[in-house]
Amino acid sequence: MSGPGGVGKGTLVSRLCERDPSLWLSRSWTTRPRRPGEAADEYTFVDRGRFRTRASEGGFLEWAELAANGELYGTPWPDPAAGRDVVLEIDVQGAAQVVERHPEAVVVLVVAPSAEEQASRMRKRGDDEDHIARRLELGVREEEWGRRLAASVVVNDELDRAVDELASILRSHREPPAPAS
Ligand code: 5GP
Repeated sequence: MSGPGGVGKGTLVSRLCERDPSLWLSRSWTTRPRRPGEAADEYTFVDRGRFRTRASEGGFLEWAELAANGELYGTPWPDPAAGRDVVLEIDVQGAAQVVERHPEAVVVLVVAPSAEEQASRMRKRGDDEDHIARRLELGVREEEWGRRLAASVVVNDELDRAVDELASILRSHREPPAPAS
């Protein structure tokens, strides 16, 4: 699951995973500080030294430095229980790396219904105005790139509707093709 910052990917993904226990949500590493009120297990929070060491040892499926905040984010090699599908919630640079390594990966691009809505979501979680303006500007390019990578694009306009759409996209990728008659 990919897309620009502030489009509500996190909420969508956690709803989807609550609904479908066969999904396995990866926990990323990041060097950014924990936000006030943010769960301690939202990420594995580490300093740059620890992150760089793990990256140099090949410990990530993908990692990226986010232009929006200069922080590092990475996906440790997934280790799901048998039969579970891995879900990643990552930026577009990361999604491009995953597709290169795993062409069978399904990229879903999540976009906000409008730039105003995206800004208001970032404001609610406490981002400052400079950061929001930068994120929106970068978001335009990320969205263009993401549309080229993505199998589907979901507009996060209404949470339940968007989760339904995601669940149906997932089903269409899991179901074997109907036998030819
Ligand atoms: P935030 O700091 O707001 O939690 O996340 C910023 C951005 O980093 C979001 O777009 C999120 O999807 C992305 N992100 C989170 N984890 C990873 C990761 O492991 N790899 C990459 N490439 N991006 C990530």
